[in-house]
Amino acid sequence: MAKRKYSRREFVKKNTLAGLGAAVSMGMAPGILANCASDSTVPAILGGRPVRTEGWPSWPIWNPETDEELVLKSLRSGVWSRADIVTEFEEKWAETVGAKRCLATVNGTNALIASLVQLDIGGGDEVIVPPYTFIATVQAVLMAGAMPVFVDTDPETFQIDVHKIEAKITPRTKAILPVHILGLPADMIKIMEIAKKHNLVVVEDACQAWLAEINNKKMGTFGDAGCFSFQNSKNLAIGEGGAIVSDNDEFMDRCFSYHNYGNPYGAIVGEVGAGTVILGTKLRTTEYRAAIGLHQLARLEEETTKRNENAAYLKSKIRDIPGILPYKLYKNVNRAAFHLFPFRYKQELFQGLSRGDFFKALSAEGIPATGGYRPLNKMPYLSYALMTKNFQKMYPPEMLDYRRYMEQNQCPVNDRLCDEAVWIFHSILLGEKSDMDDIANAIEKIHKNAGRIKNSV
Ligand SMILES: *Cc1c(COP(=O)(O)O)cnc(C)c1O
Repeated sequence: MAKRKYSRREFVKKNTLAGLGAAVSMGMAPGILANCASDSTVPAILGGRPVRTEGWPSWPIWNPETDEELVLKSLRSGVWSRADIVTEFEEKWAETVGAKRCLATVNGTNALIASLVQLDIGGGDEVIVPPYTFIATVQAVLMAGAMPVFVDTDPETFQIDVHKIEAKITPRTKAILPVHILGLPADMIKIMEIAKKHNLVVVEDACQAWLAEINNKKMGTFGDAGCFSFQNSKNLAIGEGGAIVSDNDEFMDRCFSYHNYGNPYGAIVGEVGAGTVILGTKLRTTEYRAAIGLHQLARLEEETTKRNENAAYLKSKIRDIPGILPYKLYKNVNRAAFHLFPFRYKQELFQGLSRGDFFKALSAEGIPATGGYRPLNKMPYLSYALMTKNFQKMYPPEMLDYRRYMEQNQCPVNDRLCDEAVWIFHSILLGEKSDMDDIANAIEKIHKNAGRIKNSV
């Protein structure tokens, strides 16, 4: 496994100097300072020895021995636009997730837009979305011309709170767009029940949920369509790429046609010689991307197993630290994808040490972590969307009133979650058990010394 090469000396120097600065500002005697740097019980941010000075597995993984053959073959062939390798990737991905059909696209965002448009979702419609997601989920709804309606988050699972969906359904509601965010499955059983009861379409944003499963069924195969992303940071990385999966032949033929300028495909036929038949755009991927994808896909199963094992182990190591609340999975989840390993950080149980300072202390110990999403239901793009010419023509004035929209789309639980969340990136879960121990030990150390750290940073 490739590890990012930090020079050990550089790392120690950087952290020790920062720590020394802090120690000096606390007025420590020079004798204590000299001992500090080698003391592993002293937080690194206060000049102690970091839990870890080694790097972490980097992402994406490129192994010249196993990952190049098909890529070079496709490049050398001169056949770069969509052909046999793309078809092979589609067949392989459909088989992998257990769907009848797959269409590869340029990216996950456009897989979502294509799915919504081909399921007849557009101007005047409302689509239920979670606020705790990547921006592309909501932009896809807006780009299809539909109005996003936000349903608050279940803070324990980080997923859409299924108990709050029905209250948001109106006569305009056409679809639910659940997201398996962070690679943890949303409660699809309940969501499909609600959708059935209210006759709603379901498009799953599985852009972080490769191989995740509920009741032995893969995410992306519960709804009318499932969308995936293969962007560089994703667990199946191609650089840019996406896919739509479904069992519905007519829908998949429509998606194919749409992704190829609206030209006839399968069931989407015109009279002979009639030419282009539906509205379309251009979303085709390339041969060399599909080739990269096939090589990366060969590792996905094994990597997913490893992420699940390490996540479960790390969770077991940190869940008893007061103030650390790791993710929960719904009972019927067999497996998650763990695009991220999330927990909630309770500042009040860390003697008031802010989340920002917790990150600094963690980073000084050699553990990278981030805070994740900001509330998507409060960002300026929404007021922009309501003022666009298309929205002005498609919706009645009361639906375009930004204040009213903001009022109706408040998600207070999610606001809090965004302030408390801590994420650890998936490539870190490809390390060994001892690497997970380092993370747990660093958090434990910070917890023990939280008061001291708070008073000195
Ligand atoms: C990455 C991602 C997308 C968009 O995928 P792209 O390939 O980047 O366009 C959509 N939704 C979620 C939840 C994602 O993580």
